[in-house]
Amino acid sequence: MAIAEQQGQMEKLVSLAKRRGFFFQSSEIYGGLQGFWDFGPLGVTLRNNIKRAWWRSMVELRDDVVGVESSIIMNPRTWVASGHVQNFTDPLVECKKCHQRFRADHVKGTHHADDGGEFTEPRQFNLMFKTAVGPAEDSSAQAYLRPETAQGMFVNFANIVNSTHLRPPFGIAQVGKAFRNEITPGNSIFRLREFELMELEYFVPPADEIKWLDYWKEERLRWHLSLGLRPQKLRLRPHGKSELAHYASGAFDVEYEFPFGWSELEGIAARGNYDLSAHQQASGRDLSYFDDLKRERYLPHVVEPALGVDRIMLTLLIDAYNEEEVRGEQRVVLRLHHSIAPVQVAILPLSRKEPLTALAEKTEHALRPFFRTEYDDTQSIGKRYRRQDEIGTPFAITIDFDSLEDNAATIRSRDEMTQVRVPLSELRRELQERLP
Ligand code: ATP
Repeated sequence: MAIAEQQGQMEKLVSLAKRRGFFFQSSEIYGGLQGFWDFGPLGVTLRNNIKRAWWRSMVELRDDVVGVESSIIMNPRTWVASGHVQNFTDPLVECKKCHQRFRADHVKGTHHADDGGEFTEPRQFNLMFKTAVGPAEDSSAQAYLRPETAQGMFVNFANIVNSTHLRPPFGIAQVGKAFRNEITPGNSIFRLREFELMELEYFVPPADEIKWLDYWKEERLRWHLSLGLRPQKLRLRPHGKSELAHYASGAFDVEYEFPFGWSELEGIAARGNYDLSAHQQASGRDLSYFDDLKRERYLPHVVEPALGVDRIMLTLLIDAYNEEEVRGEQRVVLRLHHSIAPVQVAILPLSRKEPLTALAEKTEHALRPFFRTEYDDTQSIGKRYRRQDEIGTPFAITIDFDSLEDNAATIRSRDEMTQVRVPLSELRRELQERLP
């Protein structure tokens, strides 16, 4: 597909997202704020489904990972010790002609079509948002909004070792908001200034670090595939030496081929004992682990898979977006995986007349405890099918006048557009078979 056509796909997706209520520009009535977005009814549900799928696979279905929820604002010494105050920067350049600012590694040449506009020499710009804690606003009160959740796991390492029976290899997982004052936010919800992270810090004996890096890169790729992302759009890219943080012994990006090119979806890095050792030194607390079987004391090494909720949400929407012509008619369909689709079963009475609606409502109430359902009796049936296709609903149940006689309804499938007649008493079982 040509680039322009692919960019067109992105615009269409963003317009669908707004029209149907997945995401909107934040505080839009005031002109918005760059890098900030709000999530509508379908967006919230999709995000919750994504986070639940991540938590299920990373925490609940494992016996070596526990969860934590740490605060967004931490003692600012955390960020000095972690190196963020000093090093969490991007190179910033300014166009000498129009004074617009850019991230140096994101621009090539000049950005004006004519000759003009050179850039200034790059300077390092710190991406952490600052705030003040308490009534005094002097420098002693200065704090930061966390730019990642990881440090909340490192500073709690000893608390978790002491309050559980876990021993390396084990992990601590967290889902929560993070803030980065990105120089160039953009591509809708791809790069935000306020976003949500799903991170795992996996603590291992030092000699096993690379083995676990290998394990997690495969495991994370498998997870993305399990949500239905197309394999040909995904790849693992090892970081070159020059990209690696000085303390890291290896890293991979899971990349996806977005309409604007291959870009990072998730980062998986082997961080050595950099963080624990920095916090041990700065806090004066012993953060080592004592292995009482081997009678040895060591600082565990860490492997970290880190994925943005917003980033994977955009990816899933892009990957699911399809325009098709079926029997001479155009339709847009989101082929979202059944496990994350905001609505799994739509219940649609053919008309708004009684007693059809009463039967349809009763049917919806019976299915509601088992599936994410939606009842819709507005507009023509054709328009309602099109809406359900556009929001990725895998199955629609149509209650028609015959239903009053034969106690049966039609299940229409989003993907095959087939329709089968099923007794009302069998609906739940039939749907459960189709929605594992
Ligand atoms: P970049 O170099 O693109 O700024 P990074 O390599 O610093 O990003 P990481 O710190 O590795 O990013 O972030 C881990 C994950 O968090 C990313 O793979 C992405 O899914 C998500 N993420 C990072 N920054 C943002 C952002 N500004 N908006 C949305 N998601 C983000």
